[in-house]
Amino acid sequence: MMFQLSFHPYHRRFKRPLQTHHGFWSQRDGIVLQLEDEQGRKGQGEIAPLPWFGSETLEEALYFCRNLPTRFPLDELETIPARLPACQFGFGSALEALKGGGSSAFSNEEGLLYSALLPTGVAALSAWKPLLAKGYRTFKLKIGVNTIAAEQQLCRALLLELPPSVQLRLDANGGLDLPLAQQWLEMCDGLRSAFNIEYLEQPLPTDAFEEMLALSQQYKTPIALDESVASFAQLIRCCQQGWPGIYVIKPAISGYPKKLRRFCQAHSLDTVFSSVFETEVGRSACLQLAQALSSRAVGFGIEHWFAD
Ligand code: MG
Repeated sequence: MMFQLSFHPYHRRFKRPLQTHHGFWSQRDGIVLQLEDEQGRKGQGEIAPLPWFGSETLEEALYFCRNLPTRFPLDELETIPARLPACQFGFGSALEALKGGGSSAFSNEEGLLYSALLPTGVAALSAWKPLLAKGYRTFKLKIGVNTIAAEQQLCRALLLELPPSVQLRLDANGGLDLPLAQQWLEMCDGLRSAFNIEYLEQPLPTDAFEEMLALSQQYKTPIALDESVASFAQLIRCCQQGWPGIYVIKPAISGYPKKLRRFCQAHSLDTVFSSVFETEVGRSACLQLAQALSSRAVGFGIEHWFAD
């Protein structure tokens, strides 16, 4: 069986730049692709790189797409190198869509709970209300960008305002050091009886696995790994090293969906599936995986970040 590729790059601006410990991000650039086989079956996929999480860049993904032969065999799709995980995901999910009949958009969103990402800083205090009205019951707040005093004060103020039915996730993007992480976990443990703090995400940088493992044993507040498990290889490594907590999985940069599905099922991982601000094409493929593999609210409440 031979395949043909068509693809186009896209650019989507955020209404306001997203601020995390990695810096400011103002525009999502990616590639939407379509595979067609000899029987005329078509399947769409999306390449949505996130280089600061270790994926390839958009330029590397474009280079790969442009250098494929006009017609190529299945083998070409199944042997994309691991250094191009967003391409693996894009081509892998396009192939699955092609085999599954092609049309997958949005039919798979039912039954999932969504977490909405709040703007970083004091803007969070007014941003949650319209999102609650839209049905969100889980919110995520980025920390590790301001002083801990200011951020903990904001976090307390937010928790006091949120209705009791709501869960809050805190995401440090690896931006804390050990004493700061301990301060956050102490605060969270202290507030847990009164408020729903679901977890603290990636308190320390990716090279501090042992420290995070120790923290997960010292505190009651669950810890989720995100940057530490950004690639499929990292996910396997952390699992082998016995990470007892939550795994945040960004399928769009985790390589072939088939391999990811098989691994998560085999190890019964406690997972949160999370967006890298894909379009509907990538989103749909990610949510199909989430529906099969995760019971926690998915981090795909991000549409309010886009202007279009
Ligand atoms: Mg995160």
